[in-house]
Formats: sequence, C-alpha cells, structure tokens
Amino acid sequence: PGPDQATLLSLLTDLPATDDATVLHAPDRALSLRELRSAVDSVASVLVKAGVRQGVPVGGLVGTGPFGVVGMFAVWAAGGVYVPVNRRSTPAEIAALIDETPVELLLGTAEDLDRQIADVAMVHVQATTWQAALRRPVRADPTAYDQEIALVLRTSGTTGRPKAVQLRHRSTIDALDSSLRKLRRRRRPTTPALPATPRLNLIPLSLALWAGIFNTLFSLRAGYGVVLLDRFTPEALVAAVRRHEITSTVLPPAMITALCDSDTVDSVAPLRIVRSITAPLSPAVARRFHDRFGVLVLNSYGQTELGGEVVGWTVDDIREFGTGKLGAAGRPYDDVDVRIVDDTGRSLPTGEPGHIHIRSPFRMRGYANSEPVRSESTEQDDRFVDGFLRTGDLGHLDTEGFLWIEGRVSDMINRGGLKVFPDEVEEVLRRHPGVRDAAVAGLPDPRLGEVPHAWIVPTGPDTPAAAELTAWCRQHLAPYKVPAGYTTIDALPRSDVGKVLRRELRA
Ligand code: ATP
Repeated sequence: PGPDQATLLSLLTDLPATDDATVLHAPDRALSLRELRSAVDSVASVLVKAGVRQGVPVGGLVGTGPFGVVGMFAVWAAGGVYVPVNRRSTPAEIAALIDETPVELLLGTAEDLDRQIADVAMVHVQATTWQAALRRPVRADPTAYDQEIALVLRTSGTTGRPKAVQLRHRSTIDALDSSLRKLRRRRRPTTPALPATPRLNLIPLSLALWAGIFNTLFSLRAGYGVVLLDRFTPEALVAAVRRHEITSTVLPPAMITALCDSDTVDSVAPLRIVRSITAPLSPAVARRFHDRFGVLVLNSYGQTELGGEVVGWTVDDIREFGTGKLGAAGRPYDDVDVRIVDDTGRSLPTGEPGHIHIRSPFRMRGYANSEPVRSESTEQDDRFVDGFLRTGDLGHLDTEGFLWIEGRVSDMINRGGLKVFPDEVEEVLRRHPGVRDAAVAGLPDPRLGEVPHAWIVPTGPDTPAAAELTAWCRQHLAPYKVPAGYTTIDALPRSDVGKVLRRELRA
C-alpha cells in the first residue's frame, strides 16, 4: 500500500531501532526487533497459506503475553482483520463471541492445543520458535471486511453485553499521532543514528482490549519498545519499572490504588508520570499517589467506539492549574469536539451538566455485532447524532475547557426522582479513614424505586459501623445521596481493565 493507505503494520516496519535492539520484553523472554519481525513473518506466512487474504477476520486468543503483539501484527501482515479474544474466557464464551462476530481462523499458542473451541479452524503457534501449525484451511468464500478495517474490538462490557467495534487502519494511526501531539512526544528520528537500546513503555494490561492494544501501538509509534507484565502486583510492577528504567506508564485507577495501599512498596522510581486510563480517577487517590511517591498522575478518557483517547491532561496543564482541577478528565485533544446536551439533545451552556457527546475523527466505522461487516452503518447508527457519539457518560465542561465526568447514565441511581451518581458518593466514602475502597450502586426499593447501597472494603479488620458511615456521608453529601445500607466485601469485582462491575454487585 502507498503512504496514504498505510496500515498499522507500518508501526513495526518503521520502528526506529536497530535490528538487535530489544523491543519486546515479557517476564520470561525478550525479543529483538529482528526476532519480532521474523516471528511475525513466520506466523503470517502460515496464515497466508491457510487462505487468509485482504479483509479476512482472524481471531487471536491473547492475554498479557508477547503472543498478543506477534499474533496481531501477523494478522495485519497477512492482510487480515484482527479480532482479539480474551484467552481466559471459557470455550462457551468464546464460541458465543465467534458466533456473533465470525472469524475464519483462530490463532492460539500451543497451550491452547487441547481446547476445542466452537467449530473454527485453529492455528497453533509455538511461542518459543514461532512456528505455526494449521489443522484446516479457511473456507473458499470467507467472510471479508473492507480493506480499511484493521480491528474488530470488544468493549469492556461494563454496562452489559460487550459490543464489537470496527476500527480502521488509517484513523487508528491518526489517533496515535493525536495522542503523541497531546503528550508532546515527538516521533524519534529514523536517521541517522538508530537507538540500540530504545526507551521502553510498560503495558500491564490485557492485549485483548483496546486499552492494552492502543497503548502498545502508541509506544511503537513513539519509537518506544514495550515491556509486558504477566500479572499485575505492586511488587511486579515496581521490579519491572526498576529493571527497565521506565519513566512513564499507563495504569487503570485500581492499580494506582493498589500501589498506594501496598505495604511493601516504598518507591516507584524512576517512574515520573503515570497516565490513568479506562475508569474514573479518584482525586483522593491521585493526590495520595503523588504525596507518597512524588509521581504525577495524568487522567485520560477514551472509549473504544471513539477509537482512542480523546480527552486528557498534559504535564503543562498540571503546572498551569495545579491540583485544583484534579478530578477533571482533562481537555479535548486536537480535532475532538465535546458537546454537553440535555435529554432532548439540545446543547447546554458551559458549566451545566448533561449527556457527553463527542465527535472524534478516529471513531469507529460501526458496530459489527450480528451485522456483517460491510455495513455503512456509522451514520445511521443511533449511537451517533450529527457525527457526535452519545458516549453514555454524563458530565460538564468548565470555563477552561476541562471535561468533568459525573458517571455513566447506566450507573445513575434514580432515588424517587432524585439523581445520585455513584462516583461522587464513592469518593466521599473513600476519604473515611476506615474505608480502603468503596463502590455504590442502586438497589430496588419498594417506595423510592431505587436507593444507593455501598459495598465497603475496610482498611482494617472491621468495617466502620453503618451509623458512623452515614454520619460521615451526611457531612459531605445531600441526604438523598447517603447510602441506605452497607455491605462489607473483601475486594470489589473488577473487569480486566480494572473497572468496577456494579452489575455484579447488584446481582
Ligand atoms: P461497555 O460499552 O461494553 O459497557 P465500556 O464502555 O466500559 O464497556 P470501554 O469502551 O472500554 O467499554 O470504556 C469506555 C468507558 O470507560 C467510558 O465511556 C467511560 O465511562 C469510562 N472511562 C474511561 N476513561 C475514563 C476516565 N478517565 N474517567 C471516567 N471514566 C472513564
């Protein structure tokens, strides 16, 4: 393809590093750029032999290992559309997923050999030699997407059934460049002196979801190598940061909290900046992290459907506004428009809260659930109004252009007509010294319809008494926002990217 049809494979072919530079680190192994490219070629050639061609969807059973990077680029090298699947899902879950979003082949590692998943041909890759074996080729008339589509991604499924989102090669490259501009990371020069030891970014996230994939691609686009973390623990993260001299990383708020709460971690050096992604960042946690480790936490907001991160903080914003705006998601990136509207879709003036609608040039091509693939559904899709996506989030813009997120429409609790946002109540509870973590969700109530209920992870062995928590909340919240009851819980249920699963709490 010419330069205007560049695909995401170009991130690997253009990576400015010498062939011997180690660009992919996993806990038990490391790959030089030469080894990574040759692993990708090796898997791609099997895919091509199996019949994969332009636009053919290929699934990848991936987790946090290097296979998530090799498999992804191999699919693009073969011309296919990459459909990542969480390898920890059960065979039944994977079968259901494939049923909804068909793939012609499923890539897995040798560890997946014994798993018979649905009725789909599998390619098994030896993750040490990157040799691949195929049992059965793709059909003669395979499903095919338009050639501009790079990925079909699942949303996290926080609010319900995950949706399948189609993203394009070109707009994803643009989204990466927009994030680069926002964070003022220039691409490294491709000549004359290529670094033999490139700087590295740490990605402690599943490579089956957009947050992990986007930040992996972002690192490569910035000329960085990638360090993967098999399983997050505060100690493992700190060890990787030290070993690879990592100065910045992306972490979901749950991991930031875990680092703050750890008894064994006393420093995160040489880390200097953490970008918080995927879920609301509690200002109390951001402040604690900064006070404890001297590291800035920059919030950033995105949605799979929007194709990347679209709102966020820069280091300059922190310098200019200090901690006064710590609870804000940040300001919109270049070319991104944010509009706050009321229930009828009318734009609201600055400062007034409402539905967040966002127009992003990187947005999805459309959903792929149950619908094939060639649909030009984007504009007709009822998630879009005049090119603006209804994000399903609520919030407001302030006079300096910062977006404040109040919560998700689907999490909002309607207490007899009065609206309660879980995030606000959780933030108050977390400030109580006896509360390590908290989540709030609505429970049915015969009189009011719904009332807020809190799940509390205590700091010590005992949860503070309900009367004590109620008194605390009454000091900081209007009476209707105060939880009607409290339940002690060891840990909050969270998704792979650290979002609290309120529907599980409710169930
Ligand atoms: P599903 O759409 O399947 O219910 P999901 O919306 O969680 O899942 P994603 O696309 O992964 O799927 O997540 C986007 C959502 O995550 C946003 O709409 C927002 O609610 C939340 N989010 C992401 N970043 C932030 C942030 N910095 N602050 C607050 N919320 C955030």
